[in-house]
Amino acid sequence: MTNPLLELDLKKAGIGTVIWATGFGVDYGWLKVEALDDAGRPRHQRGVSSEPGVYFLGLPWQTRRGSSFIWGVWHDAKYVADHIAKQRGYMAYKPARKDA
Ligand SMILES: Cc1cc2nc3c(=O)[nH]c(=O)nc-3n(C[C@H](O)[C@H](O)[C@H](O)COP(=O)(O)OP(=O)(O)OC[C@H]3O[C@@H](n4cnc5c(N)ncnc54)[C@H](O)[C@@H]3O)c2cc1C
Repeated sequence: MTNPLLELDLKKAGIGTVIWATGFGVDYGWLKVEALDDAGRPRHQRGVSSEPGVYFLGLPWQTRRGSSFIWGVWHDAKYVADHIAKQRGYMAYKPARKDA
């Protein structure tokens, strides 16, 4: 990369989602959230971390042998995507007004 972007105001740029696809180059030093255990490993259940909005995918043995392979990762990807969709549904929920 010859001219990397070193700073970005996500809100101004209209960015609501960031996907770090760093593969086997594991480095969570940039992740300033409570989503890692004392040994620096992702703390998660089936890819859903203890930090709202932070997800992991493709980790070795995340749920099964195929978790870190192109041929197999979709099981975990579907679970995480379903979880995100469900959370968005909860956030969008507005109870009906009683006086309406
Ligand atoms: C030896 C080997 C054999 C495999 N064989 C198979 C197989 O037969 N079938 C199968 O389904 N899967 C196989 N896999 C697994 C497959 O390679 C991975 O599942 C897949 O590559 C993951 O894709 P990815 O895009 O997440 O990561 P990657 O393909 O690893 O890509 C991540 C990219 O991010 C870059 N990156 C990392 N950190 C930074 C950073 N800080 N800044 C900028 N760039 C960065 C890396 O240089 C890399 O180019 C194999 C893996 C290995 C190691």
